Amino acid sequence: MKNLSDLDDFIAGRQHHFTGLSDSIWHFAELGYAEYRSAEAHQKLLEANGFRVQTGLAGMPTAVLGEVGEGDLCLAYLGEFDALPGLSQEAHTNCRSAGEGENGHGCGHHLLGSAALLGALACHHHLQQHGVKARIRYFGCPAEENGIGKAFLARAGYFDDVAAALTWHPGSSTGVMTGPTMANIQAYFRFRGKAAHAAGAPHLGRSALDAVELMNVGVNYLREHMLPTARVHYAITDSGGRAPNVVQARAEVLYLVRTQDSADLLPLFERVRKVAEGAALMTGTEVEVVIDKASAHMLHNQTLDAHLAGLIGRVGGPVFDEEDYARGDYYRQAISAEDIREARRKFAIPADYTRSLSPLPMRFDPAHAAVGGSTDVADVSWAVPTTQFYCATHVIGTPGHSWLNVAQGKEHFAHKGMLHAARLLAYLGVELIEQPEVLEAARREWRESRERLTIPALLPADLQPPCQ
Ligand SMILES: [Zn+2]
Repeated sequence: MKNLSDLDDFIAGRQHHFTGLSDSIWHFAELGYAEYRSAEAHQKLLEANGFRVQTGLAGMPTAVLGEVGEGDLCLAYLGEFDALPGLSQEAHTNCRSAGEGENGHGCGHHLLGSAALLGALACHHHLQQHGVKARIRYFGCPAEENGIGKAFLARAGYFDDVAAALTWHPGSSTGVMTGPTMANIQAYFRFRGKAAHAAGAPHLGRSALDAVELMNVGVNYLREHMLPTARVHYAITDSGGRAPNVVQARAEVLYLVRTQDSADLLPLFERVRKVAEGAALMTGTEVEVVIDKASAHMLHNQTLDAHLAGLIGRVGGPVFDEEDYARGDYYRQAISAEDIREARRKFAIPADYTRSLSPLPMRFDPAHAAVGGSTDVADVSWAVPTTQFYCATHVIGTPGHSWLNVAQGKEHFAHKGMLHAARLLAYLGVELIEQPEVLEAARREWRESRERLTIPALLPADLQPPCQ
């Protein structure tokens, strides 16, 4: 491997600053589309490092773009910084806090954005030192968790002149993310009926809550007749009030419909819509369908994934010391055997490896079948060849989106994982820029896939980010 020790030196020289950045963003714990302080911190760092900065992209005040360098070749780094609602925001504990309900970084996006930004800075530094002409573009992307910041950026064309997009995600181990991610549509079904005295004049009422319940029953019957790999989830977001003696004139249910292939999504969503219309018909109510978000499935790029796998194979995972493992053991006390077993499967951790943290590189498996939920990184992958990897930042088996994930977010081992991810991102960027044949092959593969596969327009043309 080419000597890239200047990247290591650059990252080591900034490790305190960036662990401080990720800790700050952990504390901000801002939700999607409202990551004002997190986005500002990224913006300031980009400006301080000579990047040309734009904010407020595609109607999103917390979207940040920084570009540096010259030339036709442009590489994009994708960062995130949004938190999740309803998590206990407490660090360094393996006990669930009584103060639940606050926002928290249960998915590690405070580490994600910090590492992606540091990786971009390090890559640019190396190119500058060696007089290589290329542009590095860093995206601070809002709202991955319950939004689709990247889908709006992709729709607005921000990736059109980019050769490849690189990113990562915190995980239980370190390796290329090869599993499928699901296409999805999220929509509100708003039923409107007629209020009435529930005892005195029930025959005059038309219950919107009945319609929600009948819709849910109907969709639960639909499950037998859809692809077994599809997923349909719902949450009743308005039950119509707290008085059982009033017929509910309004009620609302939020549906998230997912399929492995984007091509199967709209037909399944239409069937869910028909069930809603049936429920409205049965109850004498009306239904309005409001799309909230939509996202494609991931188009993996085998060329980039294989190159990244080679890099991770050579570099390995983060190096943990005995103190890290001891802290890991502490958190492991709060993790069930079932969660550990599931993580071993998902992160391909060998059965005979029993420690709490994984320094091992994952075996590269392009046919990995474990579904990784949904992500708006997928929307970038249809706009530009994209690759991403997991890096070990938490104890094996820590459930995603959990208070326990939040609690580990400022641990020394989490910082080590974050700095290691920055290193891998910087190495990958430099290697791709210095090996244009890999980027050309990746682009060829991407173009052929785009010609072969049909991807429906999932995002309604008039859907705008829910930003003030
Ligand atoms: Zn995440």
